[in-house]
Amino acid sequence: MNIKEIRDQLEFFKDIGVESLELQAAPSPSGRGLRREAQARQGAALGEDAPSAGSPSSGNLGSAPLAQGLEAIRAEIGDCQRCKLAPKRTNIVFGSGSPNAELVFVGEAPGYDEDQQGLPFVGRAGQLLTKIIESINLKREEVYICNVLKCRPPENRNPEPDEVASCNPFLKKQLATIRPKIVCCLGTFAAQTVIQTTSSISKLRGQFFDIDGMRVIATFHPAYLLRSPDKKREVWEDMKQIRAELFRLRS
Ligand code: URA
Repeated sequence: MNIKEIRDQLEFFKDIGVESLELQAAPSPSGRGLRREAQARQGAALGEDAPSAGSPSSGNLGSAPLAQGLEAIRAEIGDCQRCKLAPKRTNIVFGSGSPNAELVFVGEAPGYDEDQQGLPFVGRAGQLLTKIIESINLKREEVYICNVLKCRPPENRNPEPDEVASCNPFLKKQLATIRPKIVCCLGTFAAQTVIQTTSSISKLRGQFFDIDGMRVIATFHPAYLLRSPDKKREVWEDMKQIRAELFRLRS
């Protein structure tokens, strides 16, 4: 991290009400830590107590077959014309990050910046998501990020049921390929789609659901946090639950 990134991260902690930070020595070769364990899972050098690189969730596969699996899903989507969003999109936004991810974030749909770049969460909400990810000592490249809809709804309107019905099978295939330990749904649409419920995000957030062998949790969407910064504290509570659950699932 450079100085600016450290300052941004500290400002995020201040925003979410963190008043003190525990300082730790730089990780030693035998040190523990969430990032170290995530790296270990991806096949980097193991710490003394770190889990073996092939964790149960990745079935001891390296990342290549998982990456190929994701490529096959992307190929199946092709130049998708399955719903009425197709004519207006610039790019299909499939997803990005590690095919080996233990943690997957699912958002709603691409916005303007994502549609232009073909990548998820690259606008202002995406910058906040990056800080949220880093708040639990993970790097953005270590998780996987995707959306329920792969194409931008006009004027960023809410996804419509037929669009969700067309796109959701591909999200399901992405999750079945990556088989993360935890899925974090960002906002109402992702939560309702993945958890298969009509409950509100306020009711759903902060608790784990067991879905298709994954632990699923919902939290507020970063775009909502930009409008309602007072909700960041609740997101921080949810992130701490995710961090604790990841540790628990690895042990
Ligand atoms: N909002 C989303 O839900 N997804 C994105 O990729 C960007 C903004």
